[in-house]
Amino acid sequence: MKKFIIAFLVFIFANLTLISQAFAETVMYNTQTHKVHKVSCPHAKKCTKNCIKIERKDAYNKGGVPCKTCGG
Ligand SMILES: [Zn+2]
Repeated sequence: MKKFIIAFLVFIFANLTLISQAFAETVMYNTQTHKVHKVSCPHAKKCTKNCIKIERKDAYNKGGVPCKTCGG
């Protein structure tokens, strides 16, 4: 029974991680090249001047293009 509870808790935590990733939709959007980067992308880290943090859907609404390295 104890094992079952532990397995159940692991299952819940694994799903919470997936859910939080799905909602973490903030991306780095380059207002000059219109490239959309994941926040963790090395290009996003280099891009400090023209990049803004916005929601992924807003970036694509503005005509964003997915980065070839991180896929946006
Ligand atoms: Zn990128």
